[in-house]
Amino acid sequence: MFDLLKSELTRRTILHKAGFGLIALSTFGAVGTIFKPTRTLAQAGPAPAKEPLPPEKKLGWAVVGLGKFATQQIIPSFGECKRSKLVALVSGDRTKAERYAQQYGVNPKNIYNYQNYDSIRDNPEVDVIYVILPNGLHAEYSIRGAQAGKHIMCEKPMANTVEECQAMINAAKKSDRKLMIAYRCQYEPYNLTAIQIAQSGKLGKLKAIASDHGRNLDLKDPADRWRANKKLAGGGSLYDIGIYSLQAARYITGEEPQEISAMMYSTPGDPRFREVEENVNFVLRFPSGVLSNCTSSYGYSDTKRIQVFGSDATLELDPATDYYQHRLTIKRKNGNEEQNIEEKNQFALEIDHLSESIMQNKQPKTPGEEGLQDVRLMQLIYEAARTGKTIKV
Ligand code: NDP
Repeated sequence: MFDLLKSELTRRTILHKAGFGLIALSTFGAVGTIFKPTRTLAQAGPAPAKEPLPPEKKLGWAVVGLGKFATQQIIPSFGECKRSKLVALVSGDRTKAERYAQQYGVNPKNIYNYQNYDSIRDNPEVDVIYVILPNGLHAEYSIRGAQAGKHIMCEKPMANTVEECQAMINAAKKSDRKLMIAYRCQYEPYNLTAIQIAQSGKLGKLKAIASDHGRNLDLKDPADRWRANKKLAGGGSLYDIGIYSLQAARYITGEEPQEISAMMYSTPGDPRFREVEENVNFVLRFPSGVLSNCTSSYGYSDTKRIQVFGSDATLELDPATDYYQHRLTIKRKNGNEEQNIEEKNQFALEIDHLSESIMQNKQPKTPGEEGLQDVRLMQLIYEAARTGKTIKV
């Protein structure tokens, strides 16, 4: 696994666009990959550090918030990390934290709560803090973490408002710490291959993108209860999962949208949607002329799909943004070609990406500015839906 990870990381090329980083694979080393892109997409960015890292070196990570995603996906993934190890936990529930500490070999002296969180500054074992709290708490705990002198990984969406995102970026800069947003799909092999194929011209000229992300919000699930609360969630389906459709349109094109139109609808009387929206459909126009049709819903059944329509072929990624078991198909007049790509632990890849960025003092591929851009665009999507007007970005 380590060799695969290392070779993947060193084969990445940084694309500079609009001040943000986007990485594509120059070659894709997956075993059994039918499509093997051979050329680099754009000019190389800063050269990766030449000095190999000592193989035993791992940065210490603290996870803040021991909820569903943290305990089921992120914490177990540290076992597959090569540059990162779990050393501390922050939780409002001491008993739960002790249970996970024992299970994952975390020293109980490294368990914190939300009150004594700032004292993590005195713990030299902790290099990085990973904030996996409800969205409305991301800004506070990222800022306090940066002020405690730690690097920050923050879950998506970055925060509720543009102002909060900016304050997080400022706090990280002031403390000279890295800030990365956990956009796992930008580290996931199927999505990276889709970007490469779409931008390589293999589909012909790109004309349109459709991306749909939906599921049923379930108030019986504690992890969904705060998602129905505007203060804790920031928004509804758009903030939680429509953001994957927005990200897809942006990373597949490698462009920023110039115009946005949108419509929004929530089922009247449904208690799930008293404070947050159910459905948002939005259209983005990109400078190249690509039109992207995106949907986001808390009311339709599980869907995580990206389609890219080119003049010669269509790319379909379905499921596109799941945790495992993606499928990527190129559809042409004369038949379909399924891409057989090796699955990798995208969580371990993104966690190690931040550790490597810190060790090599490089800007991570999905920095705070990337998260801020999505929050800014989502606010414009709401505005377009509210006013019924097409918004110029
Ligand atoms: P959960 O509700 O399962 O976990 C949130 C945890 O935050 C709780 O378990 C609790 O942990 C802590 N917490 C602190 N204050 C509060 C509060 N006021 N209300 C509720 N919880 C609180 O949510 P998820 O794990 O599903 O989501 C957490 C974050 O991760 C969100 O930002 C979400 O968008 C993101 N996420 C990202 C995914 C991805 O694929 N990148 C997938 C799923 C979620 P404790 O008891 O330890 O204090």
